[in-house]
Amino acid sequence: MTLLTGRGDSSGTVAALDEDTLRTVEIGGTRLPLMGTGRIYVCGITPYDTTHLGHAATFVWADMAARILRLTGHPVEVCRNITDVDDHLLLQAQVEGVPWRSLATQQSYRFERDMDLLGISHPAFEPRSHDHVDGVVILAAELLTRGLAYERNGSVYFRGAAVHETAGLTRDEAMSLASERGGHPDDPNKDDPLDVALWMRSIGDEPAWPSPWGPGRPGWHAECTAMALTTFGATVDLHAGGADLAFPHHAYEAAQAEAFTGVHPFARSWMHIGTVMAENTKMAKSTGNLVFVHDLLERWSAAAIRLLILSRPWNESWEFSESELDRAEGELETLRSLESKPGASDTAAREVRHVLFENLDVPGALAVARDAGGEVLRHFDRLIGLTTVERWS
Ligand SMILES: [Zn+2]
Repeated sequence: MTLLTGRGDSSGTVAALDEDTLRTVEIGGTRLPLMGTGRIYVCGITPYDTTHLGHAATFVWADMAARILRLTGHPVEVCRNITDVDDHLLLQAQVEGVPWRSLATQQSYRFERDMDLLGISHPAFEPRSHDHVDGVVILAAELLTRGLAYERNGSVYFRGAAVHETAGLTRDEAMSLASERGGHPDDPNKDDPLDVALWMRSIGDEPAWPSPWGPGRPGWHAECTAMALTTFGATVDLHAGGADLAFPHHAYEAAQAEAFTGVHPFARSWMHIGTVMAENTKMAKSTGNLVFVHDLLERWSAAAIRLLILSRPWNESWEFSESELDRAEGELETLRSLESKPGASDTAAREVRHVLFENLDVPGALAVARDAGGEVLRHFDRLIGLTTVERWS
């Protein structure tokens, strides 16, 4: 169906709008009408280690969100940052005895190669923290002026005692997540353990930039606040990242942005991608259960990895197993044979799109496309990136 819209009076020019342009994608319970370019900010990596399957799941799904939003006819820009000034990175560089910048460059290169192999589109923007230190200084200075931050011994802290309430967490829950996820609640400089550093005094040979409070470096959440505001202005349409970033990282990033701009909400919608588990534990360097993308690519196709990630709801956590990847390879073969069926169906193609618009339901849309087969399935495979990714060797 084509709908017509008038411009000016009834005898004036009319422009055709495709039905999909008037559709609204819903993500995580939030309807996301777009007018003009859609802006997606996705929290990227700290480049101190190799890409694991948990990273891959986050970035495949963020890529998928952009592809689905584009189906409505609107351009979509993705900003995926690289946190290259960070405690973990500095520590790892020290362990390896290499300059932190070299480690960051080397690991960023490997990460981008893995993203390419997985068929993840290049983001329009890929800011790096070290290029946005001035932005963090501006943020900290403004929040100090407004009385929302305080300076202590060369560091600047954001008053964050109330942030957990907007995140729907009790203070006890927030305290436990803060200590688990780099919030340093025991820092003696803080008025409240739930305050966070916007700016940190550099100690010893840590990298240091000049600031009104002496040489220092940016705080983690403040880096993303500065990169997002610089790239997209006061708001983003969709903010994505792994589920473990919801608190404290995203909650503080948003609180700081809103305090700085006065514009609420900072993110119109959020996408916290489900955690990938291995041996019943979250995949993490500290637990030693990481499954690296480049190791998987030696045994399975990139398309199978992508299909495995996309074959469940994006917000569910899941347990990785090699047998699931074998199953995904088998399913790919079945899909390829179903694609060779003749015929096309506009109704099925439309239904596929509309299922995708309901909370990015890729598994549901795959079922519809699979039933239709032929051209509908070929288009769907291209849309979800299964036909552009090749074997590693
Ligand atoms: Zn971030």
